[in-house]
Order: sequence, then structure tokens, then C-alpha cells
Amino acid sequence: VSILDQAASIAREAGGGVIPAGEVAALKTDAGGSLEQLMLALIPIAKQSALPALSGFYVGAVAEGSSGALFFGANFEFDGCPVNQTVHAEQATVVNAAGHGETGIKRLAVSAAPCGYCRQFLYELVTAEDLTVILEDSAPTKLTQYLPAAFGPGDLGVRAGMLSRQDHPLRFADEASAYIPGANAALSAARASYAPYTGAFAGAAVVTLDGAVYGAPYLENAAFNPSLSPMQAAIVRAVISGRQPGDFTGICVAQDVSSKINHVEAATWVVESLAPSLPVEEIPLTAF
Ligand SMILES: [Zn+2]
Repeated sequence: VSILDQAASIAREAGGGVIPAGEVAALKTDAGGSLEQLMLALIPIAKQSALPALSGFYVGAVAEGSSGALFFGANFEFDGCPVNQTVHAEQATVVNAAGHGETGIKRLAVSAAPCGYCRQFLYELVTAEDLTVILEDSAPTKLTQYLPAAFGPGDLGVRAGMLSRQDHPLRFADEASAYIPGANAALSAARASYAPYTGAFAGAAVVTLDGAVYGAPYLENAAFNPSLSPMQAAIVRAVISGRQPGDFTGICVAQDVSSKINHVEAATWVVESLAPSLPVEEIPLTAF
């Protein structure tokens, strides 16, 4: 059995998109001994989740979370949407890791050098100073070397960083929201969302035909633009876990009603592109 078949089957058994920490050592031996080699070897599996509707360019990334588990990510492009809705593979690995409760990323292997946008996105991580980027044919290099003289959370007085534990005191503004499919996952994601600059805490969830629910938080950036909307994040989680947009049966976005920004309209664009018949349920949240 090839290492790719082995890893793909482990990931499927674990719910898709992840190699649990306990499985990494054995795979590492089969890949030649080093974690860097293994992470590069797994990139073809990560790429399989890509939806490059605009570029046709498949990007794969593999991240090592603080727990030692490995997370797959790929690029997502949405036909008919503004190009700023695009999700890069590096962002997708972070979302995937966030969905599994990771509190940091130690290493990130990518099939192409991270673009400037991703360097900025990754610099928001609570583990940014220690993050190592791994590319084929070049020595492992710290993110901080890829992004000299960086502007980040510290410049705005934020100490925690993306993937640090967040627990915002939010609840449904209308108790009846609890009956909307995915609403509880979207609420949990909003409580865990990272929005230190706007305070616009939000989460989204995708429900699939087989009853699986993928919640994901809004992830904000000090420079605003590489922020990731909760809807994109939830879609990425579902697809990386092996679901297809055709399997989606419910979509919702939960956000704090007092927010200065609104995540619902952007969510609608992306959902219209992938699952046009599906309405986006808006779930108002309020502080308690
Ligand atoms: Zn990028």
C-alpha cells in the first residue's frame, strides 16, 4: 500500500482532512523519516479537495497543529463571485485546524511559495513567530523571514493571536433559532471566533445530506483584507472533510446583531455559486 493510500484511508477514518497525532509517527517512518518529508509527501491528498473554479490551479497545503496532528488544505475559488472571496490553501489548513480545536500551527508545507496575502494571514496566528514554512527544494524557513518588517496583531495591541482560545458570551437573540439546522454549531463557532479588531463575532455552519454539521468561525486579520468570512470557512471545512457542495442541505450564518459589519451578504454570494438553491439562514446573536 502506498503512503498516499495509507494516509488517505487514515484521514477518511478520522472524519476527513486530518491525520490524528497518534498516526503521524508510523507514516513518518514510511515517508523516509522526517516530518517535513511526510508533510510534502501528503500534499497530493490535500490538493484533491481544491475547487479552483477560476484558475484551474490546484494548490495543496499540510499543516502541523500544536497537538501534532496534520491538517489538509486546498484552494477554493467561486465562479460568479468577486475574486476577493477566494480562499487560499494555507488559509484552508488554518480553518481545518481551527475546526479540530487546535491552538496553534507549528509547520506548514505548501505546493507553491505562500503569496503575500497568505503570509499576512498566517502572521496573525498565535504561533506566527515560531511557524516554519516547508517547500519542496528549499530549506525550512520561518514565516518571519518570508515577511520581514511585518505589521501584525502586536502593532494594534492584540496579544492573543488567531487560534488562541476565544469564548465570547453570545446567545441566540431569538430562542427559536435553535431549531434551524446547524444553528448550534454556528453559535459555538461565533463564540470561538477571532475578531479582535471589529468585535464582529460570527460563525457559520454547513449541514450535509448525511447529517454531518461543519461549523467554522470568522477569522480576522490586523490588516482586515486577508480575513476569512465564516461562510467560506464552513464550506472549506465541509469539502476538505470529503463532502461536495451537492451534499449541502443547510447553510446558516450566526452573527452578533450589534456588529459594525455584516457577514450574510458575502455568504450569499458564495453559496449562490456552489449551491444556488440553498437559502442562507441568518441567525442573530446577542451578548449575555
Ligand atoms: Zn496565498
